[in-house]
Amino acid sequence: LEEKIISLEGRVPKTYPDVNFLNYLKRKRILITGGAGFVGSHLVDRLMLDGHEILVVDNFFTGRKRNVEHWIGHENFELIHHDIVNPLFIEVDEIYHLASPASPPHYMHNPVKTIKTNTLGTINILGLARRLNAKILIASTSEVYGDPDIHPQPETYWGHVNPIGPRACYDEGKRVSETLTYAYAKQENMQVRVARIFNTYGPRMHMNDGRVVSNFILQALQNDVITVYGSGEQTRSFQYVSDLVEGMISLMNSNYSQPVNLGNPVEHTINEFASIIKNLVGGHSKIIHVSEVEDDPQRRRPNITRAKTYLNWEPKVDLNTGLHKTVEYFRQELKRFKYTHRI
Ligand code: NAD
Ligand code: UDP
Repeated sequence: LEEKIISLEGRVPKTYPDVNFLNYLKRKRILITGGAGFVGSHLVDRLMLDGHEILVVDNFFTGRKRNVEHWIGHENFELIHHDIVNPLFIEVDEIYHLASPASPPHYMHNPVKTIKTNTLGTINILGLARRLNAKILIASTSEVYGDPDIHPQPETYWGHVNPIGPRACYDEGKRVSETLTYAYAKQENMQVRVARIFNTYGPRMHMNDGRVVSNFILQALQNDVITVYGSGEQTRSFQYVSDLVEGMISLMNSNYSQPVNLGNPVEHTINEFASIIKNLVGGHSKIIHVSEVEDDPQRRRPNITRAKTYLNWEPKVDLNTGLHKTVEYFRQELKRFKYTHRI
């Protein structure tokens, strides 16, 4: 303990030697790449409240300073404008690697950049973790399963991905990201964690990220038509963001190094989901069907046995509760948008 106190020098808080000081010693310096985005900013909140020092690295492609502005000026918080496709030289104990566009319109906007972020970017962050001997968690995705022919999807399923389709830049990018992670782990004896994240929603989602949750809620709030792509019989399982954050932290702190699905196993067709949103928001939007999108996965639902067994984790927030909070967030966003654009 004495050695640690000496090495901390001027950073010792006045409260020493009480219990706060012991918590202070447990405090970690944590890097969150993509920490100004939707999921990343909720992770920042949780880890800041736990008393850790947080560094956010983000190029603000889809993230916003506004998502973390409440921490700017706090002595434990630092925000670095940086693109992870370029190497990064900082000192941390732990890394949550989330930087990558996540919604289909965003990742298809510049497919080459999406691939670079998930390959070169991931190599840079894994290289950083190796140099620092830091534990690293990679945010992977249910998209590694593609349009699955096994349902629900367990982590042992290898997936069914079109390598040259419009979603490939993201799906294959994330698959390479996972391959890189396990190659580094084996070759360099690193501690790695891989979270396969299923559809997640909640406040701070991007207004125009084109995903089904934001599209349907915004359409309903503005009495526009609700646009179901294709038959609407395709399914998704929606997880509230606070459940995901708990799952990611549990995974990081566990001893489990194989991929783990983090998602809510309650599955809905997109037709059902459109009705749920319409009933929740009210108004008089009509639900219409438009053309289907290419390579749209037809079924998606996580098998979460691994997360339950190894992390003692399962989602707690039901769809109705989570959607209420999300609808309220979008209502406020619309008001803010109208105010700033004088509409
Ligand atoms: P988001 O777009 O809100 O956040 C991604 C963040 O990464 C943004 O702040 C963006 O500016 C940043 N970023 C992108 N490219 C970068 C680069 N080259 N350098 C530095 N920063 C960069 O998306 P999200 O929903 O918060 O997703 C976070 C992570 O979780 C992503 O890796 C995504 O693939 C994964 N994920 C999310 C979901 C979901 O439903 N939200 C599902 C599966 C996986
Ligand atoms: N979808 C829809 N209408 C929309 C947006 C999406 O019917 O306005 C459908 C889409 O075709 C897919 C599902 O909703 O079947 C989920 O799409 P999203 O883009 O949210 O995420 P994905 O799970 O496909 O990555």
